[in-house]
Amino acid sequence: ATPTALLVGSGRGAQLGLLIKGPEVLENTRTVDTVLLDKTGTVTTGRMGVADVIPAAGESRDQVLALAGALEHASAHPIAQAIATAAEEAGPLAPVESFEDAAGLGVSGVVDGHAVVVGRPKLLQDWGIHLPDTLLRQMYDAERAGATVVAVGWDGAARGLVAVEDRIKPTSAEAVRRLRSLGLRPVLLTGDNETVARAVADRVGIDEVIAGVLPADKAAVVRRLQEQGRVVAMVGDGVNDAAALAQADLGIAMGTGTDVAIEASDLTIVRGDLVGAADAIRLSRSTLRTIK
Ligand code: ADP
Ligand code: MG
Repeated sequence: ATPTALLVGSGRGAQLGLLIKGPEVLENTRTVDTVLLDKTGTVTTGRMGVADVIPAAGESRDQVLALAGALEHASAHPIAQAIATAAEEAGPLAPVESFEDAAGLGVSGVVDGHAVVVGRPKLLQDWGIHLPDTLLRQMYDAERAGATVVAVGWDGAARGLVAVEDRIKPTSAEAVRRLRSLGLRPVLLTGDNETVARAVADRVGIDEVIAGVLPADKAAVVRRLQEQGRVVAMVGDGVNDAAALAQADLGIAMGTGTDVAIEASDLTIVRGDLVGAADAIRLSRSTLRTIK
């Protein structure tokens, strides 16, 4: 089979900026009742910036950013790129002597002779690093404001936090409204935690959130909903989303996302605007009505 996408509905599909893999795609779309929306890069721009660096008691803000940034330089994750960029602006990055990426949790490695860990508190715990209550409280406060906060530790102790912020795409709320008006149930699906997920969901009008999902488990979430009798569309952009996009009854990729996600999907929204997901479902319904 050729992986080349077809432009279907030649008038409307193309006008709407939708690349569709084959004519059967729109047929499956008709019965969709649930739309899973990935958070980072789909509902939000995925272009993150460091909003705050919070050192633990007795630690230096600059060193927290420098060591976290040096380590994150080795990762391609949007959070990592934000932290590495901010650290680079402050000065040259120290070389990384070893590096490990724990998908959906964070990164660890040796920088400048220190054993550094950056990521979710759970990952630091795995390294025997406990977060003091003060830091946990500061983390929670920043998360309630919608930031994604990662913890930074080295040599067995928690050293601080880095808060990164992503912007919600300007059309995401409108897209959610349109999905609802088509009778669809929007659900936010993310590896990020419940607090951040709720903050983003509230701002775009989504009630239902499935948070803290590891990359490998996103496809299982889709399967579970299908077993409950739902017909599921999944909209995503990342390498992390590929298996879920393939598992969904209708996989929709953001054209601004990764090639892996685009290949795993049935349909691509070229300009990466979530309104395209609603357009695709509406188009399929009207096309089939015309045929009948
Ligand atoms: P999403 O599903 O929203 O696209 P991911 O599954 O990629 O998010 O990541 C989930 C969480 O894992 C992040 O919110 C972050 O806390 C942590 N994480 C993942 N990669 C990194 C990294 N390179 N550095 C720090 N934290 C990370
Ligand atoms: Mg994503």
